[in-house]
Amino acid sequence: MSVEKTLAALVGIDSVSARSNAEIIDYLSKRCQAISLRVRRLPYLDEFGVEKINLIALAGAESWDATLVELALVGHTDTVPYDPAWSNATTLTEQDGKLYGRGACDTKAFIAATLTAVENLDLKLLRRPLALVFTADEELGLFGAKRLAAAQALHPRNAIVGEPTSLQPMRAGKGYCLAEVTVLGREAHSAYPTVGASAIVRAARLITQIETISEQLKDDQHSEFDPPYTTLNVGLIRGGTAKNVIAGECRFTLEWRTVPGQNPNRVPDLLRLAIESEQQSDPSFACEIAAGRTDEGFDTPADSELVRLVEELSGRPAGTVAFGTEAPQMIELGAEAVVLGPGDIRVAHRTGEFVPVDELHKCVQVLTSAIRHFCF
Ligand SMILES: [Zn+2]
Repeated sequence: MSVEKTLAALVGIDSVSARSNAEIIDYLSKRCQAISLRVRRLPYLDEFGVEKINLIALAGAESWDATLVELALVGHTDTVPYDPAWSNATTLTEQDGKLYGRGACDTKAFIAATLTAVENLDLKLLRRPLALVFTADEELGLFGAKRLAAAQALHPRNAIVGEPTSLQPMRAGKGYCLAEVTVLGREAHSAYPTVGASAIVRAARLITQIETISEQLKDDQHSEFDPPYTTLNVGLIRGGTAKNVIAGECRFTLEWRTVPGQNPNRVPDLLRLAIESEQQSDPSFACEIAAGRTDEGFDTPADSELVRLVEELSGRPAGTVAFGTEAPQMIELGAEAVVLGPGDIRVAHRTGEFVPVDELHKCVQVLTSAIRHFCF
C-alpha cells in the first residue's frame, strides 16, 4: 500500500484524544501482524474510564523480556479535536502537493511513513531488533508514553520520536511544567476595605514577583534554544465574585518550560521564596500551589551516533524544540532519542493542518535508511 493510502486510512479513523484509540490500534496491529511483527497491546483506562491502548510491534526478537531493541520508531495515535465545520477533517484531501486532514501532520504522517518503510524492507535480513511504538494520549499530557516508561515496557537503545519538525532532527527539547496557584484573601463589603483583604491585590503582588523570577531564570543560559532559558507564563487568572466585594480568592495558572538539566522544582522553589517575602510584609498572606505537571526536558548529545546519522539522512543539522514530546520517556527507557517527522508544527493543531507530499516520501526514505543502519 502506498504511503498516501496508508495516511488516508489513518486519517479516516477518528482518534481525537477524548475517544478510545482502540480502532486505530486495531488497524495498526493488523498491518503489523500482516508482515509478521509480534504485537503487544498495553491497554489502560483513562481518567474518564475510556479504554486507551499503547501498542508495541517487534521485529527481529524471539522474546519480549529484556530484549534490547536497537531502534524504536515512536508515533502517537491520538489527535487534538477538530472544528465540526471542517467537513473533510477525517477525509485525506490533496491539493497543490499537500495532504490535508486532522492528524495528517501531527502525527499520522510519521506513522504512515513508519509502516511504509517497514513493509518495504526484507525483515528476514534484520540482525538486531526493531520496535514500532504507537502511543495513546500524547496530546493530553504524554500519558501513554509515561505508562510505557513506568512499566519499563521496552528497552530501546535508539528512538526516533515522530512529531512535525519539517524533517529537521531535534536532539533536545524543553520540559513542560504547570501549576495552579490559589491566593486567598478575606471577603468584605468594598466600602470597608480595612475589614477584608483582597486576594486579587495579593495575587497581583505575587505575579509582579513572578516577573522578577522570570528575569532570574535568564541566568541559566542554553544557547541552542530559542529563547535560551526557562520561560514562564501566567496564562489564566480568575478572582473575585462581584464588583463591590473584596475578593476572597484569586487563582492563576503558572506554566514554565525548563531548559534540559534544570530541576523542574527550581520555579516552585523560587515561588515559595516569593511567597515567604510577601508573608513578611503581610503576615496573613495565604497561598496554595497545586502542581499539575513536571515533565523534564531532554538533551541527546550532539555527537551521538543517532543524531549524526539522522542529520546525514535528512541533510539538516540538529536543532531543538520548545514543545513537549515523548522523547524524555524514551530516554527514561534507556534510549538516545531524536524527534523528527514530516510537516510543520506551526500548522499542526489548526483547522486545515497538512503534510507536504514530498516530505512524507522523504520521511519514508529517512526511516528506511535508519532501520538499515541500526538493525541490518
Ligand atoms: Zn504530536
